[in-house]
Amino acid sequence: MDSSAIFAARRNEVMNDFTVKLLDWYRENRRDLPWRHSKDPYRVWVSEIMLQQTRVAQGTDYYSRFLRRFPSLEALASAAEDEVLKYWQGLGYYARARNLHAAARSMKGVFPATYEGVRALKGVGDYTAAAICSIAYGLPYAAVDGNACRLFSRYFGIEEPIDSLRGKRMIAALAQEMLDGKRPGMYNQAVMDFGSLQCVPASPDCPACILGASCKAYAGGMVGRLPLKTKKTPVRPRFFSYLYIAKDGFAYIRKRTGDDIWKGLYELPLIETDVPLDMEGLLRQPLLLRLGGRSPLSVSFAGSMKHVLSHQVLHIRFYEVVLPEDAEAAGVLQSFICVPEGQMEDYAFPKPLYQMLSERKKAASEMKI
Ligand code: SF4
Repeated sequence: MDSSAIFAARRNEVMNDFTVKLLDWYRENRRDLPWRHSKDPYRVWVSEIMLQQTRVAQGTDYYSRFLRRFPSLEALASAAEDEVLKYWQGLGYYARARNLHAAARSMKGVFPATYEGVRALKGVGDYTAAAICSIAYGLPYAAVDGNACRLFSRYFGIEEPIDSLRGKRMIAALAQEMLDGKRPGMYNQAVMDFGSLQCVPASPDCPACILGASCKAYAGGMVGRLPLKTKKTPVRPRFFSYLYIAKDGFAYIRKRTGDDIWKGLYELPLIETDVPLDMEGLLRQPLLLRLGGRSPLSVSFAGSMKHVLSHQVLHIRFYEVVLPEDAEAAGVLQSFICVPEGQMEDYAFPKPLYQMLSERKKAASEMKI
C-alpha cells in the first residue's frame, strides 16, 4: 500500500493516532539538549551537522566547546580550517567540519532563510535542510533520518526496503503527511527522540509504547524484521603502519590530502599495505630502506589498534624509529613538516593517532618522575 492509499480515507484519524500522541509523548519525555535552547539558525545548523553519525552524549561536549570558540557565523568563517578541525578532533567524519567551515565562508555573514537556500549549503542534505528550516524558521518540512525511517517503517508496516528509492519516497511522503504544520520543528524533534528513546533498533518496549495500539509492525509481529534494507555495504580492511620519527626534539608529520579518510588532519609517516605487515616486512619497505641509508635503523613496535569506520576497518600498528646520526631524513621525508615534539598537540590528528600520541606523552612524563 502506498502513502496516498493510507491517507485517502482517514487522514485525520491517523494523525490523531500518530502525531497527536507523539507530540504529547514529546512534551513529557523530550531530552533537554543544549542546542534546543536556541532557534538561532547558525546554532541549529552546527548541532545538526555535528549530530550526524555522532552519539548525543558525545556531541553535547563538542557542541558546547565548538560554540564557545565559534559563537557566530562570522567567527567560524574567519577561523583557519586547521583550527576548526582541531575542535572536531575525535568526532570523526571530518568532511562535516570542512564543509561547515566552507559553507560559513560562502554565506558572507547571512544565514539563508529559505529551504532552497539552506539546502544549497555545502554538506547539507534533505534531512539537515528540513531539520534546520523547521526548527529555526517553523517551515513545514519533515526531516527524515534513520530514526524516522525505522519509526515510520514499523508504525505503518512498510515492507519496502528503506534504502530503495520507492521505500525512501514512501517514508518521506508519510513523514510529510503526518507533519504538524503549526509545530514542524517540535514534530521533527519528537520523531527523532521517539526513534532514539522508544522505537529503538533492537527489542523496543512495544507493550509500553503509546503508539502500540495502532502500530502495524507490533500488531503483525514484524518489529524485529522492520525496517527492511537491501544493501550491505562491504567493509574494506586497511593496514596502516605509522612511524614515529623524531630527531633533536622534532617529529615529522604531514597534512592528509586527497580524496580519502581524515582529509585535512595531520598524521605521522605512514606505510599502507594490502596485507598485515610484520617487522621483517616493514624493514623491507622502501621508505625504511631509504631512511636507513648506510647505517642500520632502530625500529621498535609501539602498539596496535583496530579502528572501525562506517565502511572500513583500519588495522593500525605504531612503530618508533630511531634514526642513525648520518640519516638524511629531511631528504627522504620531503613532504613532511618538522614540528617540536612539545607542540604536537597544536595539530588535529585522527582519533587513533591522537590516542597513541597522548599515551606516548604520558609514558614519557612518567619516566621522568
Ligand atoms: S509499538 Fe514498538 S515498533 Fe511500534 S512504534 Fe512503538 S516501539 Fe516502535
